[in-house]
Amino acid sequence: MGELVIRGARLLDGLGSAPVEGATLVAEGGTIRFAGPGPAAPPPSAGAVVLDAGGRTLLPGLIDCHVHLCLDGVADFVREATELNLASAALKAARNARLALEAGITAVRDLGGHKRAVIEVARAQRAGTVEGPRILTAAEVLTITGGHAHFIGREVDTADELVKAVRELVKEGADVIKLMATGGVLTPGIGALRPAFTTEQIAAAVREAHEAGRRVAAHAIGAEGIVAALRAGVDSAEHGCYLTDEALGLLVSSGARLVATLVAPERIAGGGEGIPDYAVRKAREVAGAHRESFRRATEAGARIAAGTDAGTPFNPHGGLWRELALMHDAGMPLDRVLRAVTSEAADLLGLADAGALESGRAADAVLLDGDPLADAGAYGRVALVVQAGRVIVDRRGP
Ligand SMILES: [Zn+2]
Repeated sequence: MGELVIRGARLLDGLGSAPVEGATLVAEGGTIRFAGPGPAAPPPSAGAVVLDAGGRTLLPGLIDCHVHLCLDGVADFVREATELNLASAALKAARNARLALEAGITAVRDLGGHKRAVIEVARAQRAGTVEGPRILTAAEVLTITGGHAHFIGREVDTADELVKAVRELVKEGADVIKLMATGGVLTPGIGALRPAFTTEQIAAAVREAHEAGRRVAAHAIGAEGIVAALRAGVDSAEHGCYLTDEALGLLVSSGARLVATLVAPERIAGGGEGIPDYAVRKAREVAGAHRESFRRATEAGARIAAGTDAGTPFNPHGGLWRELALMHDAGMPLDRVLRAVTSEAADLLGLADAGALESGRAADAVLLDGDPLADAGAYGRVALVVQAGRVIVDRRGP
């Protein structure tokens, strides 16, 4: 990989430092060699590709902490998920990975798909066969018999079964463990708030996963399941729609991340054509509490990372900008939104070389038309995407 130089940018490092005007980024061999004020940059080497940012804002590649790459975001999610096979799931995941990358997303955490499909797509991405973000995947979700997303999950009911399933997933190549601590909006016949596993059961899974060096994400809508998951030591609470005082206190004291995915119920509650009625009804029930819980978590100083639940109805891959706007609408200041989608997200995923523009990190960057510290809509105006020092998308225009 040759040298890439981006000049004339307004640089936001993703770590909360003050913006640098007239900044230069130098990448070589897929790694950032310099990121800072233009006058201090080393001269470009012969043969370097030099691009002018035109005063646009350069920030770290965006990170989506909650996606489902095997799912396209069609109205009837249950039908799509039920009809998947290994080949169709892998093909969809490859296409959706490309869509995410083109939107400036350079790392994703896939929290549930069809069997080993996303493990293989993640390998193909690393090998260069498939263009996409870096992918960490849970492969399949763990859920109680008949529980949320059972049609794409492994059904387990006891601590022993959870431990065995964690071992199997690790053996197959899963990077992270996802378990369903409550019911969900999109599964017919079960209440979204209903708790699933006990604290002791989740704790057994967490212990096993952590011993294997894997983190645990818990889907958790209702307060009882959120509390059980946080007491058990999960690394992130997904959705967190009903944060009672107890749940919020545990969230803050445990240091677990909240990945709210506000956009998921919002898109379903919109009731687009073909979404099953039960899902629209359940989404409308949770949406208000969800936003209020997010607002309170923000105020309480909880650690929050951005995620979309992309793949759920009318929530297509690459739509992270929608979630970031909703996080801001629900009370999160824009400087925290930026960290939630860069450095905080990288921290949750355990990607030490991602999430910030500084020397030594991976050269993953996105150039936006507009200022994301003044206007969340800027995340939807992607002018340039760079991954590992390579230009993926260039829409800077003449
Ligand atoms: Zn999800």
